[in-house]
Amino acid sequence: MSLAEIKGRIATAESAAGRAPGSVTLIAVSKVQPLDRVIAALDQGQRVFGENYVQEAAAKWPDLRARFAGVELHMIGPLQTNKAKPALELFDVIHTLDRPSLAERLARLAQDRGACPDLFVQVNTGAEPQKAGILPDDADGFIASCRALDLPVRGLMCIPPEDEDSTPHFRHLATIAARNGLTGLSMGMSGDFETAIAEGATHVRVGSAIFGARAARA
Ligand SMILES: *Cc1c(COP(=O)(O)O)cnc(C)c1O
Repeated sequence: MSLAEIKGRIATAESAAGRAPGSVTLIAVSKVQPLDRVIAALDQGQRVFGENYVQEAAAKWPDLRARFAGVELHMIGPLQTNKAKPALELFDVIHTLDRPSLAERLARLAQDRGACPDLFVQVNTGAEPQKAGILPDDADGFIASCRALDLPVRGLMCIPPEDEDSTPHFRHLATIAARNGLTGLSMGMSGDFETAIAEGATHVRVGSAIFGARAARA
């Protein structure tokens, strides 16, 4: 599917949900994609991209940023504490703030740097043991502790369990965000971004539907 088609489907979903045109940001997830596909999307005007690995992003994006003005880069993969510093320098937004130790590290680095990317707290809405994220019951407390550290928390992010209907997970995330006064909702991927938009997503993270299937990570 082409980038234009995905943008068309986003516009249709916005309108079906009674939401303003352009209220949903498309994050084109370019992890592990051949460079020519990423450049093709840039040539078509796409500027917001998501990456999962700090090293891969660091190898790719400084050059692309020099060639294309206005790129906005989002970290959507698990962030190791020892990669927090390069991540902070490379990304405009980090969607995977998922534990106190990372919050403390980011707060210290942000203070030294005098700047911090916008942050989304990842919530493990399915309470899956293998999945990253704050448990729903711990979310309010964690958000409060991030705010106490002066971290710019803008919203919440989730990855629903693969074998379940995403709708209740998106709703749950929206509920937690609303009661914490957060307006950002990073939810929805290739298979369920229209559902996510119906449930209030402000950022959808779409990879394979734009770029095609990913090769296995080398
Ligand atoms: C890879 C990835 C995506 C994109 O997934 P697709 O199914 O290819 O759209 C979205 N969000 C996260 C967190 C990812 O790791």
